Amino acid sequence: MNLILLGPPGAGKGTQAKKMVEKLGIPQISTGDILRAAVKEGTAMGIEAKKYMDAGKLVPDEVVIGIIRDRIKEADCAKGFILDGFPRTVAQAEALDEMLKGMGQDIDHVISIEVPDSALLERLTGRRMCSCGASYHIMFNKPKQEGICDLCGGKLYHRDDDKEEAITERLVNYHRQTAPLIDFYTKKGKVRPIPGTGSVDDIFAAIMDAVEG
Ligand code: AMP
Repeated sequence: MNLILLGPPGAGKGTQAKKMVEKLGIPQISTGDILRAAVKEGTAMGIEAKKYMDAGKLVPDEVVIGIIRDRIKEADCAKGFILDGFPRTVAQAEALDEMLKGMGQDIDHVISIEVPDSALLERLTGRRMCSCGASYHIMFNKPKQEGICDLCGGKLYHRDDDKEEAITERLVNYHRQTAPLIDFYTKKGKVRPIPGTGSVDDIFAAIMDAVEG
């Protein structure tokens, strides 16, 4: 099953993707995670991408399209994948369609997680991440020990782009560049709208209903 998780920054795509991986046995492909790993390693791609990421802007289409082109050909994607944070522009969606067509495949469902902007700022400024992929919130989802990951004991950090100026830019860019994808995939009959403001488990149940129902 080939799935796309669509939604504004802070909608809970990463959290839901991790639960879906467990349940569906297909990998999560997060372009944000892949780019952050490249930044950390200091690769040429990472150094270039960092400029955009820190400013809350999208990395150029050709960079992320190249990442996905290589990644979906890997063996663990044979039964499908969960795209988290890709596509983010109509050009990326069109490139993805072409790639999948060339492989005799298609997207099955686009899970559109809907959260109002008013809730996103609070979610993102309070978000704390672990390099293992776990995410916490200083008010709503505290780790057992402050600043330490419950799962791996790693030190939690505040993403540079989860600071207020970058968030505002990311939300503006989301509405301008990414939200048009809802229309793009609605025309193809692929969109499954999911309210993203309930509990993590309720949202997960709604996603499972949409993809298995
Ligand atoms: P995320 O972890 O999905 O919020 O992504 C963090 C940042 O990585 C974004 O704000 C962008 O700068 C960059 N990024 C991730 N995915 C994409 C994408 N599909 N297209 C362009 N930039 C991306």
